Formats: sequence, structure tokens, C-alpha cells
Amino acid sequence: MVFSHLLQAVQSHRVCFGVKACSAAQYSMTIEPDGSVIPCQSWLKEKVGNILRDSWESIWNHPVCVGFREKAYLKNRKECQECEHLPECYGGCPLEYSP
Ligand code: SF4
Repeated sequence: MVFSHLLQAVQSHRVCFGVKACSAAQYSMTIEPDGSVIPCQSWLKEKVGNILRDSWESIWNHPVCVGFREKAYLKNRKECQECEHLPECYGGCPLEYSP
């Protein structure tokens, strides 16, 4: 009951809880002690550059970062594309279904 009221409030834009999707490479990035940059502190697959060596532009425009911002991880998720709650969750954490 509480959840459905909350969901209605969010869907009708009466309340806003800020970012409703993964914020990696959009509002946040992680810089490791050696300068390595990863889109998220939990993303251990691939570094997107090194802040001590690489330009911010090359890091920001790394294909992994672009993919995060464009929500590429949702493109093959039919269940998300058809879900009425997509605007509220945007598929959750992409780490949940990254190979
Ligand atoms: S949703 Fe997942 S990938 Fe995105 S910032 Fe949070 S933990 Fe990282």
C-alpha cells in the first residue's frame, strides 16, 4: 500500500528523489589511487583512462562511458523496454546483468 502510493507520487512528479538511474559516467566517476578512472567504484571490468595521463575529454568520451550515459545496457533487455516502471528505475544497476 505504501509502495503504491509512493510510486503514484513519483509517477505523477509530485515528489522527486533525484537521479532515477545509474549515475556512473554521468554524475559520478571513480578515481583510484594510481589515477585510473572507472565509471563506478563497483565497475572492475575496464578502466576508461588515467586522470594523470589522459585528457578528461578522452576519459569522458570513452566508449564505456558513452554506453553508460546512453543506457546501452538496456537496449537488449526486452523486459525493461516493455516495463511501465522503466522511467522510475531505468533497469537498476547494470552490473546486475553485465556479462
Ligand atoms: S547503479 Fe551500479 S553501476 Fe551504476 S553507479 Fe550504482 S553501483 Fe555503479
